Amino acid sequence: MKEYAVGIDLGGTNIRMGIVNRSSHVISPLSFSSPQGDEKEEEVYENIYNHIITLLEENGLTLSDIEGIGIGLANAIKRVRNLDGSIKKYLGIVKSNIKVINGVNLLVYLRERTGLKILLENDVNVGAVGEYITRKDKVSNLVTVYMGTGIGGGVIIDRKLYFGSHGVAMEVGHIKVEYDGPLCVCGSRGCWESIAGGAGLVNRAKEGIESGEKGYIYKMCKGDPEKITTKMVFDAKRAGDPFGERLIERAINSSKMGIVSLINLFDPDIVVLGGGLFHAQKDILLAPIVNYVRENALSAVRNTPIEISTLGKWGGVLGAGSLLFLDI
Ligand SMILES: [Zn+2]
Repeated sequence: MKEYAVGIDLGGTNIRMGIVNRSSHVISPLSFSSPQGDEKEEEVYENIYNHIITLLEENGLTLSDIEGIGIGLANAIKRVRNLDGSIKKYLGIVKSNIKVINGVNLLVYLRERTGLKILLENDVNVGAVGEYITRKDKVSNLVTVYMGTGIGGGVIIDRKLYFGSHGVAMEVGHIKVEYDGPLCVCGSRGCWESIAGGAGLVNRAKEGIESGEKGYIYKMCKGDPEKITTKMVFDAKRAGDPFGERLIERAINSSKMGIVSLINLFDPDIVVLGGGLFHAQKDILLAPIVNYVRENALSAVRNTPIEISTLGKWGGVLGAGSLLFLDI
């Protein structure tokens, strides 16, 4: 059992990496700009490999000192598992936020160059691992919900990450919260994120403006629905604008139903809420959700702790590296 692993967080803007230890610390975090143009695929992988080697050397370590490398990226990851649950192989092309990077190709490249175990995981699942690993002394079951442009989630069950048969477990944003509700990016209707996610909220505001709503949001976007932002919708609510208040109330109601359902379903030790939208608006979002859970969840799980994520920008690196310390 080795003390260290390397975690890599492939973001659309930056690639972050660091050495992660078993005490849940990120050592020597570093970041560099993600390739944005038509760089050669292999050269991008070689550059990532070189960064890993430099990172290890700077800390007096070599590849033989690390358990393996964990990579977090956007999108679901299909995999075939062995009967004992361990990962046998990854399937197909795994797109990332970075055009030139195919997750499976990067995994194969790094495995050949290092001879180490390489794990690939969806960024929200990686977030759940990061949340869990920092609480592992007191928590066995954990649910995370991240609210940003969309709404994503991850779950740790009995100290293991659960990914489902198709790698799409915990697509919580597509929990149905309104029958025949608004159209979602997934093609279905009434999904939680189509009402309470950043993009969904903007779309609901656009519909209102296009059908004649003339309040705060109309003024702020100067009558152009394409200029509406999530912040404008929340600002409208803060300003006491009735249309803004209706949109936020509908979003909060969706989140109440989503989160209480997750708590009733999983009976977790803790729920962790995070994501850009949630952090920016938590003064409006958190209290009504917590109050709803306290009054409406099943009595045994009504007092499930609901915490705000404190991982910050290196949480993806921590979670990705810590994948190597979980039994998956
Ligand atoms: Zn959906």
